[in-house]
Amino acid sequence: MKLIFEGHDERYTVEQSLLNLFPGELPVYGPVQPEDDTWAYVGYREKDEFFTVKVDLTYRGKNALRYFGGRHSGTEYEREGQRRHAIGACFFLAAWEFQKAPPPWGMLTGVRPDKLATQALTEGKTPEEARALLERDYYVTPERAALAAETGLAAFETAGRLGPRDIAVYIGVPFCPTRCVYCSFVSQSVEKSLSLVEPYVEALTAEIAAGGRMVREHGFRVRALYMGGGTPTTLTADQLDRVLTVFEDAFGPALDACDEITVEAGRPDTITAEKLSVLKDHGVHRVSVNPQTMEDHVLRAIGRRHSPGDIETAMELVAKTGFRHVNMDLIAGLPEDTAEGFRRSLDRCLRFGTDNITVHTLSLKKGSRILTEGLSIPGPEAVGQMLDAAGPLLREAGHRPYYLYRQKYMSGSFENIGWSRPGGACLYNIYIMSELCSILSFGAGGSTKMVDPVLKSRRIQRVFNPKYPKEYMERPEKLLANQTAFAAFYDRGESGENRA
Ligand code: SF4
Repeated sequence: MKLIFEGHDERYTVEQSLLNLFPGELPVYGPVQPEDDTWAYVGYREKDEFFTVKVDLTYRGKNALRYFGGRHSGTEYEREGQRRHAIGACFFLAAWEFQKAPPPWGMLTGVRPDKLATQALTEGKTPEEARALLERDYYVTPERAALAAETGLAAFETAGRLGPRDIAVYIGVPFCPTRCVYCSFVSQSVEKSLSLVEPYVEALTAEIAAGGRMVREHGFRVRALYMGGGTPTTLTADQLDRVLTVFEDAFGPALDACDEITVEAGRPDTITAEKLSVLKDHGVHRVSVNPQTMEDHVLRAIGRRHSPGDIETAMELVAKTGFRHVNMDLIAGLPEDTAEGFRRSLDRCLRFGTDNITVHTLSLKKGSRILTEGLSIPGPEAVGQMLDAAGPLLREAGHRPYYLYRQKYMSGSFENIGWSRPGGACLYNIYIMSELCSILSFGAGGSTKMVDPVLKSRRIQRVFNPKYPKEYMERPEKLLANQTAFAAFYDRGESGENRA
């Protein structure tokens, strides 16, 4: 779509809306030519304390014209926000003409749509007011606005229980038995990289040991550990034992206030009684078994080598070992799946009685086999039906939404939602998705996020570990530099805790 701006240069706002509302349309800049049939003029004017936005949008020859006006107020920073909102809203209203169905998240294009709800609650509004704000100012549909108010409230309540030096820790294991067709993660199939696993564990334990020293020296408290990947249970029982032992020894008293330890045991074909018993012995509170579907032909279509029966067996082992919490992940929109098939998968998961179920929407990621091999997937309408059916079923089983996020290129522009029974929420998921505290990450591809405990998301810094296992093992100096940066963020007062 050709874009013409006048009176502003809000490229990011308009481009994000364009990608959200016209998937497949790329922004192009330059004058409109007689042969162009898809373009948008976005004009912005200010006079005294008033502003007006005009969007004149032509899509495949059909035109829509919209105006949006208002009054400025507040600081320069606040006025910038008002200008961005007005331009985004006006573009959305013009683009709405061309949508087959109301966009579920309205004009919101970000990853965390419930952040606005959390912010409203922090400012003293009620959940009902937060919901109304999302509907009125951002054109979010009533169903999604209600969801965001619920998850926003969970984040608001969780935030109140964190101290200024409370952090969470992530340990990444980037190996999986085989690669799923929708995956673009750096995860390596163990078949191809078996020889890397043991040296990786060596490097990982060295990084964790150094990180633990830094954490104790600087007085941080670890409130949650999340071990993910990849699939951590691709490691042997002995390797899992070594990683968790080093973690406990290195962090010692910094773990006194740790509320939860979660380990992803994502692929049922990696789960054994021996590994589960190692996890249990180390005090792991929660394991996550991620079938994604319980339909045999869908499992095959996504590149899994296990059957629904293997998932049943893995769940029996998990139940026998006796973890406090168990999560299961499902994905709506997988190749070969249907609305009925998805519902059958959810029914089967609910029968296991786990207190956490995460319902993802398929995200079409660059580099995934779905895109490179052009596999056919259910359309947005079918995905909408899957999600519409999931909510009531989960509520009926006692679950409530407690965190949500969106990704780019999601089928139907929907969302991922974590559901849990009372007391079953995974705090780490709330911490990371609502950016409530810093996350110190270990392992290849780890992203350490430093969150200002006072100003929260307005002051966030990130440092990244090398992406691939080989590169990660060869650059221990980079890992130490990241830990130094983490400590410095707090010690230089950049974290803002001293301004509290
Ligand atoms: S289990 Fe997850 S990380 Fe591993 S290949 Fe599948 S999608 Fe990727």
